[in-house]
Amino acid sequence: MTLTPDQALEQAALAGIHCLPIPTPFAVGRVNCYLLEDEPLTLIDTGPNSGKALDELQSQLGERGHAIEDLELLIVTHQHIDHLGLAEIVAERSGAEVAALGIAAARLANFSEDAEREDEFAVRLMLRNGIPEDVARALQSVSRSFRSWGSRVSVTKPLQDGQVIPFRDRVLQAFHRPGHSPSDTIFWDEERRILIAADHLIAHISSNPLISPPLDGSEERPQALVTYIESMRKTREMPAEIVLSGHGEPITDHVALIDSRIAGHGRRKEKVFKLIAEQPRNAYEIAQAMWGNVAVTQAFLTLSEVIGHADLLVNEGRVREVEDGEVTRYEAAG
Ligand SMILES: [Zn+2]
Repeated sequence: MTLTPDQALEQAALAGIHCLPIPTPFAVGRVNCYLLEDEPLTLIDTGPNSGKALDELQSQLGERGHAIEDLELLIVTHQHIDHLGLAEIVAERSGAEVAALGIAAARLANFSEDAEREDEFAVRLMLRNGIPEDVARALQSVSRSFRSWGSRVSVTKPLQDGQVIPFRDRVLQAFHRPGHSPSDTIFWDEERRILIAADHLIAHISSNPLISPPLDGSEERPQALVTYIESMRKTREMPAEIVLSGHGEPITDHVALIDSRIAGHGRRKEKVFKLIAEQPRNAYEIAQAMWGNVAVTQAFLTLSEVIGHADLLVNEGRVREVEDGEVTRYEAAG
């Protein structure tokens, strides 16, 4: 029998996993952090770097009889600032160990420089895909203005894909599931069939397969949607009963959710193919044909979507990329 979201939260709480929804200034709304009452006492994600988020984190921990100073382990699920903005403050106050994907540790430690490098990468990607320079630069300054909600953090416990994290009452196994971000990591309690998935799966919105630079510092443009679909297929095979998400309600039928996400991407891919088959277009032109003129803040999201679907079509041999001066155009193959 499938649990309701409320029953799922209740069952997670009985297993010592408590959802702490922390406010963010972003359109996504609150971010779900999780308190794991075990030894070590653990917080999974922190919320953004703001006084309001810190106050709420303190008061929600207080409701459960804990303080930030009591935390012994902090787990960071991925590199996005709504999830890790308070990480350095929490780690300093508590002296907690910080666990995160080892290959993301350098990225997390060099937040400011890497965020700048990421923005430059994004600008180059936007220009190469036909987004006008003024829009690309406007988006870069929006991204800079968001940066104060983030933070650097030193990872003291670098995790590998598949690594087991032992607690007094349980083990969690960490799995790398890139796609939404290159560092997405999920945490699996096999015994209780509870999966802490952060933004890898969200019930009410399709996680954006955002194109970010690779964690190894290379400049190659990753196929974020292709990677994300592969990651979802792996998670689909896990016998989870409860999936605790980074935003919104828990997921109690992740197989159905993943199937509908993959089917949705399949439909969108065909729409993109139709537009390319009509006439060669660049990614920005495809995005405009699909969504019209979107807000500047949405421009990179829609670009990531279109490029992701075009990647699927290129990999299937149905579409090819043609370099047209400074801009990449897609045209139907054969
Ligand atoms: Zn995220």
